[in-house]
Amino acid sequence: MKNFDPADKIQDLQYFGEFGGVNPSISDSSTYTFLSAKTMFDTFEGNMEGCYLYSRHSSPSNLYLDKALAAMEGTESANVSASGMGAITPTILQLCGSGDHVVSSRTIYGGTYAFLKNFAPRLGIKTTFIDITKLDIVEAAITPATKVLYCETVSNPLLEVADIEGLSKIAKRHNLTLVVDNTFSPLSVSPAKLGADIVIHSLTKYINGSSDTVGGVTCASQEFIDNLKNVNSGASMLLGPTMDSMRSASVMKNLRTLHIRMKQHSYNANYLAERFENDGLKTVYPGLKSHPSHKIYKTMINPEYGFGGMMTLDVGTLAKANALMELMQSKNLGYLAVSLGFYKTLFSAPGTSTSSEIPMEEQIEMGLTDGLIRFSIGLDNNIERTYQMMKSCMIELQIL
Ligand code: PLP
Repeated sequence: MKNFDPADKIQDLQYFGEFGGVNPSISDSSTYTFLSAKTMFDTFEGNMEGCYLYSRHSSPSNLYLDKALAAMEGTESANVSASGMGAITPTILQLCGSGDHVVSSRTIYGGTYAFLKNFAPRLGIKTTFIDITKLDIVEAAITPATKVLYCETVSNPLLEVADIEGLSKIAKRHNLTLVVDNTFSPLSVSPAKLGADIVIHSLTKYINGSSDTVGGVTCASQEFIDNLKNVNSGASMLLGPTMDSMRSASVMKNLRTLHIRMKQHSYNANYLAERFENDGLKTVYPGLKSHPSHKIYKTMINPEYGFGGMMTLDVGTLAKANALMELMQSKNLGYLAVSLGFYKTLFSAPGTSTSSEIPMEEQIEMGLTDGLIRFSIGLDNNIERTYQMMKSCMIELQIL
């Protein structure tokens, strides 16, 4: 990781448009013509590099974004998709069939949790959910049927950190594929460099950064991406969660500023987390020394991009959390909205929103309390001013 700067890898790519434009041309076609029928046949068979057949398979615009994201994650290849879930579900279905087993972190995005818990069993795929921070528990959950070890680098919403190097050793020992969702920590962490086999992002969040689209990507070996896109057996090709070329072109333009945005998100979140913890609020942020995985996370990150823009505060009760979020929104400090990675601060109470798919008793077991607010800290220029305004909301509601 030390010699790998993911932002430099993106910067080093150079694409020109059809007429020498500084941005690549957008491929506005669903299908492509061939001068010879033989070339069409070979393309169908997957033997013709540089030829396009049909845009559900791939398009020039999607391939530009695939290349940039593979470069960013240091993998051989990548495949963009219409949403983060459109990357996660085909990846798991490509790796697992009936009778197979997944060991997954229990603190993951609610949609992924619901897929593994409620949907995948319909296809004969079972999942054991465990505390990903305890490597002995992870290893003990592995059975002869286990194929995949699944986690998020920094988990949603509890901000638990997965020790990717430790998990990778376990995965190798048991011949499993380690799949890591890196949505919360692009650039900060490069999971493939730490031993992950497959890295996934919801592009909807930091990477696109403007809350105007959903999107996703799977970054992996060329062999795995070819399998995902195989016309006869590829889960992405056959389930069809394809990103539109117009969108991939616009995500590509936003990707260019990701390094600047991540630094500011991290700076602002770190600033607020330190102050609110000092004020006596129960604050969770991986950059705080009090975070249980602070030490290990420090060794995992590319320090330039910091500890990320996500922070949680526990204000005691759901009623207080709701009142605080409504007051902060009325003062234009941010929006009461799910999702993350926007220029504006976004906040929500995960127990009643993004993690509501997780049953109440399981929420309690994993430490997801009622009064927890998840913050995606924005790009505010004057964060001290933001802190003072947030603090006065808390004082007004007798939270501080
Ligand atoms: N992974 C994480 C960590 C998420 O937070 C989300 C969405 O909130 C997803 C995946 C799913 O992504 P999408 O909403 O783009 O399908």
